[in-house]
Amino acid sequence: MTAREDARVNASPELTDAPEPEESVPMMSPSLDVKRTTPMDKEEIKRAFLDNLFYVQGKFPVLATQHDYYMALAHVIRDLLLHRWVSSASVYTAEKARTVCYLSAEFLMGPHLGNNLLNLGMGEQIRQALAELGLSLDELMQEEAEPGLGNGGLGRLAACYLDSLATLEIPTLGYGIRYEFGIFEQEIADGWQLERTDKWLRYGNPWDIARPEWAVEVKLGGHTEHYRDAKGEPRVRWKPEQTVVGIPYDTPIAGYRNNTANTLRLWRAEAPESFDVAVFNRGDYYGAVEQKVKSENLTKVLYPNDEQVKGKQLRLEQQYFFVSCSLQDMLRIMRVQHIPLERFHEKFAIQLNDTHPAIAIAELMRLLVDEHGMPWQQAWAITRRSFAYTNHTLLPEALERWPIGIFASLLPRHMEIIYEINAGFLEEVRSRFNGDHDRVGRLSLIDEGGERYVRMAHLACVGSYAINGVAQLHSELLKSDVLRDFYELWPEKFQNKTNGVTPRRWLALSNPSLAGFITANIGEGWVTDLDKLKELERRADDAVFGAKWREIKRLNKHQYAMYLRHKTGVGVDPESLFDVQVKRIHEYKRQHLNILNVIRMYLELKANPNLDIQPRTFLFGGKAAPGYRMAKLIIKLINAVGSVVNRDKSLRNQLKVVFVPNYNVSNGQRIYPVAELSEQISTAGKEASGTGNMKFQMNGALTIGTLDGANVEMLEEVGAENFFLFGHTVDDIQRLQREGYRPFETFERNGILREVFSLLQSGFFAKGDAELFRPLVENLLYSDPFFVLADFQSYADCQDEVGRVYQDAGRWTRMSILNVARSGKFSSDRAIDEYCRDIWNVKPVKTNLLKQHRIMHRSIQ
Ligand SMILES: *Cc1c(COP(=O)(O)O)cnc(C)c1O
Repeated sequence: MTAREDARVNASPELTDAPEPEESVPMMSPSLDVKRTTPMDKEEIKRAFLDNLFYVQGKFPVLATQHDYYMALAHVIRDLLLHRWVSSASVYTAEKARTVCYLSAEFLMGPHLGNNLLNLGMGEQIRQALAELGLSLDELMQEEAEPGLGNGGLGRLAACYLDSLATLEIPTLGYGIRYEFGIFEQEIADGWQLERTDKWLRYGNPWDIARPEWAVEVKLGGHTEHYRDAKGEPRVRWKPEQTVVGIPYDTPIAGYRNNTANTLRLWRAEAPESFDVAVFNRGDYYGAVEQKVKSENLTKVLYPNDEQVKGKQLRLEQQYFFVSCSLQDMLRIMRVQHIPLERFHEKFAIQLNDTHPAIAIAELMRLLVDEHGMPWQQAWAITRRSFAYTNHTLLPEALERWPIGIFASLLPRHMEIIYEINAGFLEEVRSRFNGDHDRVGRLSLIDEGGERYVRMAHLACVGSYAINGVAQLHSELLKSDVLRDFYELWPEKFQNKTNGVTPRRWLALSNPSLAGFITANIGEGWVTDLDKLKELERRADDAVFGAKWREIKRLNKHQYAMYLRHKTGVGVDPESLFDVQVKRIHEYKRQHLNILNVIRMYLELKANPNLDIQPRTFLFGGKAAPGYRMAKLIIKLINAVGSVVNRDKSLRNQLKVVFVPNYNVSNGQRIYPVAELSEQISTAGKEASGTGNMKFQMNGALTIGTLDGANVEMLEEVGAENFFLFGHTVDDIQRLQREGYRPFETFERNGILREVFSLLQSGFFAKGDAELFRPLVENLLYSDPFFVLADFQSYADCQDEVGRVYQDAGRWTRMSILNVARSGKFSSDRAIDEYCRDIWNVKPVKTNLLKQHRIMHRSIQ
């Protein structure tokens, strides 16, 4: 009996019930099975699945866990992707295609299995094949550990952009870091956030392939030596203190229903081979092992801070490490394709996702000048034509600066290069602005006011040919405020690229019932051309259509209510209005404004027991940076209010407050489809764009929001009559700031606010502890840097209006349909189209699937 037959005999009853494949199993290694590379029928899927269970997992069904089944399935899908991947790589290489390199310290990809099935168009086949084996696709999908290699919006944007780049058939490499521990898992205990390490690699990752043959060396620390080469030219050598090796791990990124598979290349740090020699020679085994551990710590953990930076040396090491690996990798690709170095900027368009990879500008100069002997001016001309920079923030505390001391000791050569770039740059500034001394100081790459810092945003601006913000308002504020001096110097560099999200993951995959209904009515073209949703507009007044639209949301809510009860123990009324705020917890996002209004509604219901309001379920979710005390206290407050409100029988179920733990991509995919009201209530001028707002809109939620970030454009798209607008504008806020904002005066003038705060200060939500929320209360009353009190009344009034409008189901449904119909602008396909046209100057390259024998032939050559 062959091993394979043996596996069948030992199969569980469910598995042996399945009909046997008609043809015998070919005796080939699974990876060479030709059929696996083309769309498979059900029998082939089942066979490939069982093969993988046996040969990859080393299990037979009786011993297999759900996770083994998941792994076997993941390998079936990866094998399918490989054909596209190899074919795309082959076409790109043959055509020496211009390539987008998206450099990002974070990629918040979310689970791959469901998305790959969707993009391959194989979901139904796989579901049926598994069902015949007695397995549930949905259950296997739950087994996937989420690769949470990002904090929030910025990392998720990178993931949406990779999806669109593959769907639009743009040759792309995503470059980043393969953190061993991604963003922590959040648990809630006694209302407080607890962090648990995210061991996403514990059972192995079936989606990536290590490429140790393309490893590169990265230097750190030490000093530089200046000397003259044989021709008498001045040269510089970097004598590092330490060397680490970067190993690339590649994940295929499939386009939607096309033949393209691009690459996400994430780097892991390792100690160099020479480590072993050192141990042998020195005999200092433990000392040497310590060095090895130190090297491998480099990519150990993602820094869990969103929108705030601390000058931690390890973070700078991570940034430099992945940037140096990636640039060296690009130079290797140039060598393989026989492209001369002078054409670097023609081969690659490098996008800097925020300033995290901005050190790439100095590193490319070092590689070209020191390692390839290129003259400085030529290298600078190439560098300045290679990079484009996306700014993501207006918060001063999120602008990256590195103390000169840390920077120079880790990157001594880059420090020199930055000084040299700065000297040339400031010379240009002086001659343009007649020696305007203050301006020179403001523009300098070095902050000299007190302790000296390297300003990474300035390096990014000087070294890039394009600079963009991520929503119209944000891009305007960059020009008038944060980067004003750079705008005055180089207005032609500034652009706007309003963010977008992929409708594949965030609608087709996450909300299959709504997606199916839309497709049934307007066809499936919207999936890759989201403007087609406009065709839903003519159904907005169709009562039958509207009733079905409502029913879809209702069913989603009912299912989610069961899930919530299972996860949190709290029962919510699925017929109530689902009002959702999910995003990182941050004072500028103002979760506390939301919860203050919940307290207001609670007080109102307590004061008028017969009051009938629109019943509501407030859902919150989001992680706080572990060291961000105020954010953690806000989580505690939400939970504290929830535990009082949810138990109060006198409210007759009119109010529920639930904090959903561990908001991440998977939980986002569950929650956006059930939301009816989307909370986008940041202080005007603080949220660069937001992308959560877009996911909610696509799933039929209405927005309550300020004129901030991309909300402005959403309002413009859907019309004011389909948007709940409140609060101060950017101009209002700036005026308040100028005139001296005194929140305590606002508080004293507002009777409702006084009641809300008096309840809070009494310890009512803290089992009598009047101290617990004091830091939060005092911050709001005496400082309120994010204008919570200033917007409170406007927000409360607007929320009451929401409740009234919801009671007119027909009107609400119409608004919901129109929101979806007008969400086309917020597809990441639109955003990527604009980047390709206005910044990258790249064109699609079609992939034709190679014949299997040609792949084999080529690989042997
Ligand atoms: C979309 C998304 C975000 C960004 O949400 P905002 O509301 O724009 O801040 C953050 N985290 C996850 C997991 C997301 O999916």
